[in-house]
Amino acid sequence: EPIGTDPDPSFYRMVEYYYHYAVRVVEPSLTEYLKKYQHMSDKKRANRVAGILKVMGSCNSSLQFEFPLQRKSGEYEIIHGYRSQHSVHRLPCKGGIRFSDEVNLEEVKALAALMTYKCACSNIPFGGAKGGLAINPKKYTVAELQRITRRYTLELAKKNYIGAGIDVPAPDMNTSGREMSWIVDTYIKTIGFNDLNAAACVTGKPINGGGIHGRVEATGRGVFMTVHHFIHNEEWMKLIGVTPGFENKTAIVQGFGNVGSWTAVYLHMKGVKIIGVLEFDCNIHNPQGIDPKALQAYKAKNKGSAKGFPGGKEVGPDLMFEQCDILIVAAMEKVLTHANASKINCKIVGEGANGPTTPAADKILRERKILVLPDLLTNAGGVTVSYFEFLKNLNHVSFGKLSIKFWRDSNTALLESVEKSLHEANVNAKVKASPLFQTMMSGASEKHIVNSGLEFSMTNACDNVMRVAKLHKLGLDVRTAAYVNAIEKIFVTYDDMGLAF
Ligand code: GLU
Repeated sequence: EPIGTDPDPSFYRMVEYYYHYAVRVVEPSLTEYLKKYQHMSDKKRANRVAGILKVMGSCNSSLQFEFPLQRKSGEYEIIHGYRSQHSVHRLPCKGGIRFSDEVNLEEVKALAALMTYKCACSNIPFGGAKGGLAINPKKYTVAELQRITRRYTLELAKKNYIGAGIDVPAPDMNTSGREMSWIVDTYIKTIGFNDLNAAACVTGKPINGGGIHGRVEATGRGVFMTVHHFIHNEEWMKLIGVTPGFENKTAIVQGFGNVGSWTAVYLHMKGVKIIGVLEFDCNIHNPQGIDPKALQAYKAKNKGSAKGFPGGKEVGPDLMFEQCDILIVAAMEKVLTHANASKINCKIVGEGANGPTTPAADKILRERKILVLPDLLTNAGGVTVSYFEFLKNLNHVSFGKLSIKFWRDSNTALLESVEKSLHEANVNAKVKASPLFQTMMSGASEKHIVNSGLEFSMTNACDNVMRVAKLHKLGLDVRTAAYVNAIEKIFVTYDDMGLAF
């Protein structure tokens, strides 16, 4: 375990560590899988397994560039931008773009790798990518941010790093629909001018710009669904000595941005008391419970700060160590470390952020029987709904009431015959009763369809990871189970495709 106990490993080393740890678990079954090549010698099989695992673990390509920006003051600054495409076993590759002082090539590569495993774990047919600009967006005017984003897009475009069939960015830390609009507009007005699928060059767009209902809330909703799925599972709750269900449960949320705030909203809706919120500039405590929607609204009015929120008391950073049932870490990487993991006082950690737990902390938490729901499984809701948006754009339709109602109205006869044949074919009552089927047939809203699809995908992924954990006797190590689940699928793809690329 070279970095297993390293108190401060680089993020890239962390992801490599988790990957290689899982590889050790899964390698024997991959070798077994290759027994299907009856004429292959054991040595050839071993080489092939090792070869595929090497390809899977390495970052395919990265782009790093610098460009000047003239500030409002007249001064010039050099802006540093990055994009990494970790794997191209499925195209396009997919992953967000973040604006943060901390952005560097290593970080972007680590995040791109995580996207590869995240997509595979949830059966989202994309490779992994990530990009970023090393800026603190708070220091720039909106006009400056627009110029930076448009230039960034041009840099990607001229190097073939953006396009519906190539690489599709999305929001991440400090970016949202606004930045995605600038990206799609720049793309359409330059290399995408003749691309019928230009709108699919980026996801997380505003609704009127080709976006999809439910994308903004999707990551938080998925985090909530993952916690929901595990906390209602008796077997898993027995492992950590927790009564199943949300009754009488409390939560602390570290990072109240897009992901953390929506996770809190859904937990709150199910009766979980949000007793604490930790933010970059202040921490709010309220043992009676914080109303997440009120805090969202307060932050929106208060220039993005929770400071002065009347629904709680401002306290110090030790709030993170208060006793609670669920701790949501939704800010950034390396928040739970060797130094603080023994002080955490919760039963379940939900990783809304990417890479919030170092391997050393992960080990300590597991030894303390704290269930860590890992990033690659838990925060996959964002990219899942990005996939729905992508499909919507490629299909040039809306999933919403309009298209379905239009389709129903103009195809009454067809619909009747579909219903008749379903009846005649004696379609399984279970299928007919399924929420997704009912939703589709009832002309429900786009948001409804998106949320049904998200729930289907998240619960499926959770079940798969639970199954893998049991099969490989991994105990509470959900992270390794999620990696194994991802590695198995990517392995089969590489094997089927051959290694000649
Ligand atoms: N940035 C998000 C993530 O880390 C979403 C990526 C996407 O939608 O492509 O998963």
